[in-house]
Amino acid sequence: MSTLTVCAPLRVEARALRRGLDAAQGTDQATVVRTGYGPARAAAAAARIAAAGPQALAVAGVAGALTDDLRVGDIVIATQVTAEDSIVGATSVGCPSAPLLVGELRRAGLTARAGRIATVAHLVRHGQHAALAASGAIAVDMESAPLLAGAAGGPAVVLRAISDTPAHPIASPAIVTGGLAALRSLRAAAPVLAQWAAAAGPRQVLLASPRSFCAGVERAIEIVELALEQHGAPVYVRKQIVHNATVVAELERAGAIFVDELSEVPDGANVVFSAHGVSPEVRLEADRRGLEPIDATCPLVAKVHAEARRYAADGYLVALIGHAGHEETEGTMGEAPASMALVENPADVAALRPADPDKVAYLMQTTLAADEASAVVDAITERFPTATGPGTADICYATTNRQQAVRAIAARSDLVLVAGSAGCRLATSAGVSTRAVEAGASPIVPSVSSCPACPISATR
Ligand code: SF4
Repeated sequence: MSTLTVCAPLRVEARALRRGLDAAQGTDQATVVRTGYGPARAAAAAARIAAAGPQALAVAGVAGALTDDLRVGDIVIATQVTAEDSIVGATSVGCPSAPLLVGELRRAGLTARAGRIATVAHLVRHGQHAALAASGAIAVDMESAPLLAGAAGGPAVVLRAISDTPAHPIASPAIVTGGLAALRSLRAAAPVLAQWAAAAGPRQVLLASPRSFCAGVERAIEIVELALEQHGAPVYVRKQIVHNATVVAELERAGAIFVDELSEVPDGANVVFSAHGVSPEVRLEADRRGLEPIDATCPLVAKVHAEARRYAADGYLVALIGHAGHEETEGTMGEAPASMALVENPADVAALRPADPDKVAYLMQTTLAADEASAVVDAITERFPTATGPGTADICYATTNRQQAVRAIAARSDLVLVAGSAGCRLATSAGVSTRAVEAGASPIVPSVSSCPACPISATR
């Protein structure tokens, strides 16, 4: 863990922070320094601390709220700290990690907000709050700006617990209960500062390999590019070729038009079918409409379609293991709708009604997680011991390899981040967008799941 210096202006603040750190595990490299009241003492303390060189530094203490929506005991993490011109040695500093820290504090059960903090030279009296709030600050103190110089270029953060508000200012009797509430919050927040220091230190980033698009999706993208080269714009593409906003926008700029259904394609136009494949009904509609289809169906998906046709022709009831509403399952089910049933989980197996219990086959969506699919296969073979199928061989190598890569790095990581477009359901469901982190979403834990919408699987 990285060394952390916590600057607390007042003795009671320092005591609350020490108690909070002592009660938590793994905080032995955090030191609480009492730095003194007011900007002059803060500047002197910062100079002494900075002499030790760059370090992770947290300024923590109580503060006054400038807005009516903050309550005593709430925590404010500074996104920026500004100072009155008269304060010597003060710096105006931005704190980019504020939203992440707010997320951690919320997970710890505290009410926390990110916002600007103003450092002033004198106590804020009744009636002065509005003028400071007009500058964009949400809380005010008398030490943070000069103390930040103590970081000497290292990572720094300001955490303040609200002790007084515009309705109950510092000179009112309510300051006693407000101060106690703020000290309780400081104590509870102290371990989170140690976590922040650990994250702010040197980190090793592991890249999963393989990652990114599978061969089937890359092939489909190339087919769209070739179609644009050969036929010119526009080329229509049924369904998103990949759930990646950058790739889709680039293809749109080149003249591709993405549609959900063939009804949106003008008669006689060129239309690409995506890697997930389409049902025979879609192909027939394209024929009827005089469209010029270009088939980018992945060969591995086409193989599953062929198996569905073969089993159906041989009189089998085909259980397709997959997700309802996924483009691939819709396409595969369309190969023999009268002979197929979608099975999403082991419980669905009880609903299968084969004409002959000895003629049951199963197939699966190519992008499932192997362990997820195995549980369903077990349920099918338990109920129909003669059931035939590919095991989990229909799950394509691209999906399996990515799942294995994610499992391998998840076991060696504290956090797995999925870099993806906002529209990617995997990224959204994994809770990894900045907004999700801000809102206190659960950290990612190592269990592998397949994306219901695209061929990428990851840890969440
Ligand atoms: S995930 Fe596999 S089956 Fe699906 S498109 Fe990619 S390579 Fe083809």
